Amino acid sequence: MKFYVTTPIYYVNDVPTVGHAYTTIACDTLARYHRLRGDDVLFTTGTDENALKVVRAAEVQGLPPQAFVDQMADRFRRQWEELTISYDEFIRTTEPRQHRAVQTFFDALYRSGDLYLDTYEGWYCVSDETFFREEELIEGRCPNPECGKKVEWVSEPAHFFRLSKYQQPLLGYIEEHPGFLLPEFRKNEVVSFISGGLRDVCVSRRASWGIPLPASMPDSEGFVVYVWADALVNYLTCAGYPDDSARFEHYWPADVHVMAKDIFVRFHATLWPAMLMSVGIALPKRVVAHGYWTQGGEKISKSRGGAVPRPGMVLDQIMAETGCTRLRAVDALRYHMLREAPFGQDGEFSMEALLGRYASDLANDLGNLLHRVLPMIARYRQGRLPEPCAPDPELHPAAKRAAEGWDRAVATLDFRGGLEAIWGFLAVANRYIDKQAPWSLAKAGEEVALDQVLYSAAEAIRIAACLVSPVMPNTAAEIERQLGLQAWQREWDQASAWGLLPGGLAIGEPAALFPRPELAGIEKAGRPTVGTGRAAKPLEERQMISFKEFQKLDLRVGEILSAEPVAGADKLLKLTVDIGGEQRTMVAGIALAYKPEGLVGKRVVVVANLEPATIRGVRSEGMILAGWVKGDDTSISIVSPERPVPKGSTVS
Ligand SMILES: [Zn+2]
Repeated sequence: MKFYVTTPIYYVNDVPTVGHAYTTIACDTLARYHRLRGDDVLFTTGTDENALKVVRAAEVQGLPPQAFVDQMADRFRRQWEELTISYDEFIRTTEPRQHRAVQTFFDALYRSGDLYLDTYEGWYCVSDETFFREEELIEGRCPNPECGKKVEWVSEPAHFFRLSKYQQPLLGYIEEHPGFLLPEFRKNEVVSFISGGLRDVCVSRRASWGIPLPASMPDSEGFVVYVWADALVNYLTCAGYPDDSARFEHYWPADVHVMAKDIFVRFHATLWPAMLMSVGIALPKRVVAHGYWTQGGEKISKSRGGAVPRPGMVLDQIMAETGCTRLRAVDALRYHMLREAPFGQDGEFSMEALLGRYASDLANDLGNLLHRVLPMIARYRQGRLPEPCAPDPELHPAAKRAAEGWDRAVATLDFRGGLEAIWGFLAVANRYIDKQAPWSLAKAGEEVALDQVLYSAAEAIRIAACLVSPVMPNTAAEIERQLGLQAWQREWDQASAWGLLPGGLAIGEPAALFPRPELAGIEKAGRPTVGTGRAAKPLEERQMISFKEFQKLDLRVGEILSAEPVAGADKLLKLTVDIGGEQRTMVAGIALAYKPEGLVGKRVVVVANLEPATIRGVRSEGMILAGWVKGDDTSISIVSPERPVPKGSTVS
């Protein structure tokens, strides 16, 4: 099976915003999911570079147009790399292949009798590259609510496409193909737009920047293809049109075109299918419009100026607020956007909502599953996975339901519904661990049951990684690394399978998946609360360490040789401690409870293998133990051996 998915090509002058990111992340998720299913995927994106505005913007910067677009296109490419977008093709409409495709396509339009030369007279908005009728203008200005600029009166010869001819064929096609336009309520907009009557559209301009009309057409001299008509053809170009017919026959028709709603009705759902009908090329299988991202209820866009959320800024903020890595921030953004807005509807972009989801869905539901299970395998089974057991009667069916729920939802691009199905599985897995309480099984010595629970829980983690991987590819890879799966070949079917983890597998080095801000040492004062989930771990589990772990502590009896205050720190003393033939400097927070002179000669218990740390400019190489009433530094009481033992004696 092949799967061909496209983003629109983005207007090269735009700054990539979270709005562009959303479309691209949605397509990337589809592409990754279909690759997991074993489909031969073609995922394309790119930049739209032939607009007349480009010439004016290049002039402002004092650059030739081509040099200008080269530099602008790179910003999109870099943005998609940052968001780990797995596109197969990045097309730029100034490329020779696009020129060949557009000229071939227009030659075919001409030969089908659907292009004719006439005079265009009307109002033109340069900013939107759109023609308007007199009655569409608002007080003589561009009717686009985000533009509102002055329009220009244009009267010039131009080529027209007989769109009017396709009114009935389009309506018939839409009726016969129920899944062609999504969502349903937007399809209704298209139907009423087309039913209202289609006028022929101007598809050429007199200009020097852009793709010239094919020389085979009469009256083509001095004309370039109107930028919108040119841009749409990129979908064919990426599939191999017109040079590579084998490739084109394989990938075309596209399985899904995805875009924001503003370019849906007129262009992707009307003009594009009509032009394809005219030249006899099959229509895309599905054309889907999503809503806008808003802030304070207004569309996020460049023309508004001000604080437009750019993906890079959002990533910086996630990292600063949570202490997570950049790849984890990328996945948090990807997850949040697909989970937040019902596909097709507008979504309000808020950092607070994003950080809330980070804490509840990612750190708690997903991160905790991993952080509860892997340390128990380390503790109870020396880091080796027990042998496979029979499918768990609760976990395995829940995994299958989640995979099927995602399959169903993603077929209509209902990413939110799909993720809800997956999070349903995570809830079952977390409840399973609560209920089975492996720490109690360990205490009771129920080894067979403990093996089963640990293996089943590890399988749940493997399945979770597979399920979330289309949306959070970097996190899935990290989960698999922590499970000990080297070079794991992930496939979608594995989400519904059981017993794939080999017995005896050595689990990998654990690391916080989605660190919680309060644990990453980040001050919470003065910023939105994000830590609203349940507690990180059940108490029983947190309190237990194995004897083996205890043995890692090097505790020794030492004698304080000298003590002095630390400049500028009224709670700290600098101690020199003899731990049996070796002198160590240690900084201890005991100055409110002890005078330095009273400490000399005292026997103390020292943690001798604590990592050195520099405190107030003093290198501290160990820690002395003391009892205290937490929070009351005057209550500190140093732990001393009850009877004299030699310096350097082991404490155990
Ligand atoms: Zn305008």
